[in-house]
Amino acid sequence: MARIKAIRGMNDILPGQTQVWQYLESTVKSVLDSYGYQQIRMPIVEQTDLFKRSIGEVTDIVEKEMYTFDDRNGDSLTLRPEGTAGCVRAAEEHGLLYNQTQRLWYNGPMFRYERPQKGRYRQFHQIGVETFGMNGPDIDAEVILLSARLWKKLGILDSVELQINTLASNEARAEYKAALVEYLRQHVERLDEDSKRRLETNPLRVLDSKDSSTQEVLKDAPSLMDHIDEESKQHFEELLARLEAAGIQYVVNPKLVRGLDYYCKTVFEWVTSSLGAQGTVCAGGRYDGLVEQLGGRPTPAVGFAMGIERLVLLLETLDAIPGSVTQTVDVYMTSMGDAANQAAMTLAETLREASSKLRIQLHCGGGSFKSQMKKADKSGAQFVIILGDQEVETQMAAVKDLKEGEQESVAFADLAPYLESKLS
Ligand code: ATP
Ligand code: MG
Repeated sequence: MARIKAIRGMNDILPGQTQVWQYLESTVKSVLDSYGYQQIRMPIVEQTDLFKRSIGEVTDIVEKEMYTFDDRNGDSLTLRPEGTAGCVRAAEEHGLLYNQTQRLWYNGPMFRYERPQKGRYRQFHQIGVETFGMNGPDIDAEVILLSARLWKKLGILDSVELQINTLASNEARAEYKAALVEYLRQHVERLDEDSKRRLETNPLRVLDSKDSSTQEVLKDAPSLMDHIDEESKQHFEELLARLEAAGIQYVVNPKLVRGLDYYCKTVFEWVTSSLGAQGTVCAGGRYDGLVEQLGGRPTPAVGFAMGIERLVLLLETLDAIPGSVTQTVDVYMTSMGDAANQAAMTLAETLREASSKLRIQLHCGGGSFKSQMKKADKSGAQFVIILGDQEVETQMAAVKDLKEGEQESVAFADLAPYLESKLS
């Protein structure tokens, strides 16, 4: 019978890779902790209308990327394509937004029916940050500083560029959209097919087009900056000043519009040139209108999401993963003979009890001394403990340092502190 395989674009994350994921996740968590952000966990499935109403009916995501199905009740449900909508829904539903400020984060799988390729999958993972109740540029600056601190901690700050833009107020953007459409209509025959379609459905996305003819047309297109409202302008200038004060380098990219409808004012992306076409590792912005749009009281909000797969790829590409990350075992415990076999398990338990730091792998399943030593080598452990009848008799373990090649005899009682000091 043919074997059943995983679904295209949905990856198994295997041992070896999971250590890198855990390293990334724990680094993110430690940075978020240092800014006082709290985790929220939402369901993976939501009502389809939530995404239609928030992301927008005529966005790529809603038009062609969602995994939507009817459940047994006939309700239309969707596997979440992003986290912001569900986070707003949950925060609103549980009263987290009334006259409060919130700094939240989440981590988990997202689903989009896209063409799978490097850095683009159908199940992918995001860590997202969402803040609510703060309308000034200070919180915009904070979420950007927070992400910059993360890149610094991961040792990749030099390999990512901050691109930033303002989409102005919803009113100013609507005015600009009309002006843009009017201009593009005059040049419609020079636009690529996608842009022709977007001209009618989501004109701002035309700015995103990579087509050279469309790019040519865009050179003389009206600019949002000519339509921006005073408040958004000030907000943006103050944000840039704060970034400068914090020593964060940025590039203002007037073509940066983002693919989701709910953004206003600040939008930004962290982009790398090291991953080919899928170079955006983190993206976000302000979405002041979304809470109200979903039925809540007007609540300003700003957030971002980073793509875990792309960050893992970047860490690998840049060789930025510390060696300790993929090392999972410190000590490999071998034994020869029934008595030593028993003693090995007891000793391993005693060592774990004595030191929560030690990572000990007990050899199971017997076998020759040679085959056990081979497994010890393969485990990546720095030390192998060798127990035979004599070692059990004398309560002295033979401890071999596999890196240095030296072997010492250490009393069972002294083993934990001995190994701890050698390993640190
Ligand atoms: P892109 O322009 O690459 O399609 P996007 O604008 O659709 O990205 P967002 O919705 O802003 O992406 O999601 C935030 C981040 O999540 C992206 O910057 C990226 O790192 C990651 N991401 C988005 N879609 C995918 C995917 N299909 N596979 C892997 N990562 C993804
Ligand atoms: Mg996309």
